[in-house]
Amino acid sequence: MISDIPSGLYLHVPFCRSKCPYCDFYSHTDHSLIPRWLNALGKEIGFYQDSFPVMDTLYLGGGSPSGLSESQIESLLDLIRERLYLNTDSEITIEANPNDLNPSKLKTYLDLGINRISLGVQSFDSQELLFLRRRHTTEDALKALEGIREAGFTNLGIDLIYGLPGQTKEPWLATLDKALTFHPEHLSCYQLTIAEGTLFWSLKEKGRLQPIREAEEETFFLATTRFLEEHGYLHYEISNFSREEKFFSRHNQKYWQRKPCLGLGPSAHSFQGNRRWWNVRSLNRYCRALEADKLPLEEQEELTEEQVRLELISLGLRTRAGLDLTQLGAKLPLEKILPKLIENGWASISGNHLVPTVKGFLVADRLPLFFE
Ligand code: SF4
Repeated sequence: MISDIPSGLYLHVPFCRSKCPYCDFYSHTDHSLIPRWLNALGKEIGFYQDSFPVMDTLYLGGGSPSGLSESQIESLLDLIRERLYLNTDSEITIEANPNDLNPSKLKTYLDLGINRISLGVQSFDSQELLFLRRRHTTEDALKALEGIREAGFTNLGIDLIYGLPGQTKEPWLATLDKALTFHPEHLSCYQLTIAEGTLFWSLKEKGRLQPIREAEEETFFLATTRFLEEHGYLHYEISNFSREEKFFSRHNQKYWQRKPCLGLGPSAHSFQGNRRWWNVRSLNRYCRALEADKLPLEEQEELTEEQVRLELISLGLRTRAGLDLTQLGAKLPLEKILPKLIENGWASISGNHLVPTVKGFLVADRLPLFFE
């Protein structure tokens, strides 16, 4: 089904210089494969130019898109603009690592219409950066942030990680405090999760890494919300904060609101109507498929009515906009479900919406179970 709603475009740049021990995003370290990937990407775009006629967000994620050279990023944007229609007021975001940036690259980004940077700082504490085996230092992050502002970017997001083993609230709040000196329009604060297949996972399995306990997770989460709300930030999604509504991530809101999104590149996911599909998680298989003029699909599915309803519930209860109860249909016994959520302090009613509280965000994964 072709939608006339402007779609989001996610582009997975599958290259990183090294692998961070906690990361389970797909990436490859051999940058000599970039030209082959760009060729394959051009072919992949060709498959979709008629079914996604208008886009109004582009998110360059990965991987490390900032690891591409200026000419490579230029080729990438040219490929997209040649075959897909990006509205002139599109939000165009690039994820960046601090030590990939310099004044010339930042100027190129602006010249290409990139108007939002999401900088992967993770921490301003040198020891924590070493633990996370990030390639950058605290000084690199500070320099990158100064450079981004000097270049003229007015929509800056900073990504941070909390809940490292042994971390206490004080160094975490000091990191938040340092981030605020740059007045970021957006902050994403993620709890460190130990995903299967990562180096941290194998260390945990061997008993050499001890994740924090659930009670500590709660302490960090609530302290983060309190601190950022006291400094004027809106906690608009479980992990996301923004200085003003106009700086909410337009691209991520498409996922939460089930708007059509096209994902390109290895491991990227797409959504249109009630159909989902996703690409293979291998650069080699991705390129081989496209070189043979085939789509590099791993799988696809058509959601049932019940799956759509559960998705509406779980996505709606991730955001402060809440769950639009009128979208659920008449089948659910809401008169029994809603009082349980409200009495526990997990949500409240606002007009037609069930709106999660901060306490509700803490148990967001469990709330959809009440609707089953
Ligand atoms: S730089 Fe980002 S995408 Fe690459 S390995 Fe590290 S966390 Fe993952």
